[in-house]
Amino acid sequence: MNKRIYVFCFHRISDEKSPAYPPMKVKIFERICNYISKHFYIIPITEINKVHNSNKKLAVFTFDDGYYDFYENALPILVKYKIPAVQNIITSCAENRISFWTQKLNNCLEEYFYRNLTVEIQEIGIKKQIRSEKDLEKTALSIYLRLLENDLKDLIVKNLCEKLPEQINQTKMMKWNEIEECIKYNITIGSHTHTHVNLNTLDLNLIENELKISKNIIETRLKNYNCEVVAFPNGQYNNFTMEIARKYGYRYLLSTEGKSLPSNDIYTIIPRFSLYGNNPLKNYLKLKVIELIK
Ligand SMILES: [Zn+2]
Repeated sequence: MNKRIYVFCFHRISDEKSPAYPPMKVKIFERICNYISKHFYIIPITEINKVHNSNKKLAVFTFDDGYYDFYENALPILVKYKIPAVQNIITSCAENRISFWTQKLNNCLEEYFYRNLTVEIQEIGIKKQIRSEKDLEKTALSIYLRLLENDLKDLIVKNLCEKLPEQINQTKMMKWNEIEECIKYNITIGSHTHTHVNLNTLDLNLIENELKISKNIIETRLKNYNCEVVAFPNGQYNNFTMEIARKYGYRYLLSTEGKSLPSNDIYTIIPRFSLYGNNPLKNYLKLKVIELIK
């Protein structure tokens, strides 16, 4: 039997306004849960190598980053539809609720837009006034892509935020008490590394640190939990990072290529379909297209 498995990846689920990277609205998320529950047989990630007696396609739900809105908005809906899921957390964020560089950048650019200030990042030759919410989303994406390989990105984002007249409000992340509660509702906790770095650009010691430290913290904070899932930040990985992840005992290695997975091939990388945005028709069409992907 060679069934395909469709692994979905979500990020923020919230009605909060955040035009730099708009969260999926709670109502849209519920509609997607309803649709996928009807058309797919949803399994926990730990069961992807088992034989399932359903004639539906198999699906797995995953979430990245560990936002507080997962606990607040997504979890009650997952419970309502009896959907098991994976939440991949960034352990440095779970330690202190402070968000990571990408989210900080988004929050910071939103402030520049609302205050009509010019965004200036000399290091990557950017000087511009953001004109509209659409422009904000495009600018945030382009700056994100240009900073991705830059070792100084944390400092650059910090400096950009500090040029604002007031401290920005940061998007809240889950802390350990919420994460612990998630486990009671069929949520598997995975690692999304310790600081959400691009592992491909690090040397061996630092890759080991990111993967080992986050696994250790999760297993200690969650009292002897066995953390077997890792989602590579920004979907960036190579054979070397995969090998190290396996060495530290991760069994399920998640990436972000939009592909389905044959159930006999789970020990390589697990690709995922990202679902985001608030256009119901677009989401519906995307799911329809995904269903046709072999
Ligand atoms: Zn992430």
